[in-house]
Amino acid sequence: MFRKSIYKTPAQLRSMVQPGLITAAALDAVRPLVRAGVTTAELDAAADRLIMQRGAESNFKLVRGYRHTTCISVNEQVVHGIPGALVLQPGDIVSVDCGAQYQGWNGDSAVTFVVPDDERPELVARRTELSRVTEGSMWAGIAAMATATHIGDLGAAIEGYIEGQGPSAVSGETYGILREYVGHGIGRKMHEAPSVFNYRTPDAGAEIRPGLVLAIEPMVTAGGDATFIEDDDWTVTTVDGTDGSHWEHSVARHDGGIWVLTAADGGAAGLAPFGITPVPIA
Ligand code: MG
Ligand code: MG
Repeated sequence: MFRKSIYKTPAQLRSMVQPGLITAAALDAVRPLVRAGVTTAELDAAADRLIMQRGAESNFKLVRGYRHTTCISVNEQVVHGIPGALVLQPGDIVSVDCGAQYQGWNGDSAVTFVVPDDERPELVARRTELSRVTEGSMWAGIAAMATATHIGDLGAAIEGYIEGQGPSAVSGETYGILREYVGHGIGRKMHEAPSVFNYRTPDAGAEIRPGLVLAIEPMVTAGGDATFIEDDDWTVTTVDGTDGSHWEHSVARHDGGIWVLTAADGGAAGLAPFGITPVPIA
């Protein structure tokens, strides 16, 4: 039995709009700073400033033992990289994960950038393609939330999308999906039940119906799905050394449809290729 329902009331869904928009704005504040020569600590500071300016707080800092506003994962790091003195280099693929808590409710979102590198267009194309496929798989999962009946359908949509993209026309690479790290419910806490697998599962999972809010976050590599945790006890890195990408949005299903809480347009642009129009939370 659930101790409490995983489904939120319309009023609770409305409370999640602002933290979602603040999370989106924090990542927007990072975006123009991503270039060669910047440290990951500087990117983290920009997100932190924005969240404080909006009267919110970083929910990553509420995670036990974690002291930063973002996780920033570079190249073979996939998720949970710790921002610090690392200086971004031309051609790096950089995933930034961030969340804000506002008036007791949470947002959680991640994006991947590729640092321009005029000397290595092939490297940039390969890494941009990995990011594009990862982002596309996230939108496939989000789109499925509009019509699917069970959470297991989302994993099938995500995995199916990635299978449909590989081997890559750009690089010949086939893609791996991390299996040990998954999406999650979100609300009063950043991490709530249920888990959202990024691959097909034998179990259909919980029912998708109005009131469900999920953080959908595929973590994809340009190779195998095996990872290890670095000596910092946080950073998740590929065993085979291939690149990783991470995209994430917090998404609400409500009486009118779906709405991407961590996108300023509610997900309209990302969902358009899937024929889904997001509906604002009334
Ligand atoms: Mg996240
Ligand atoms: Mg998350």
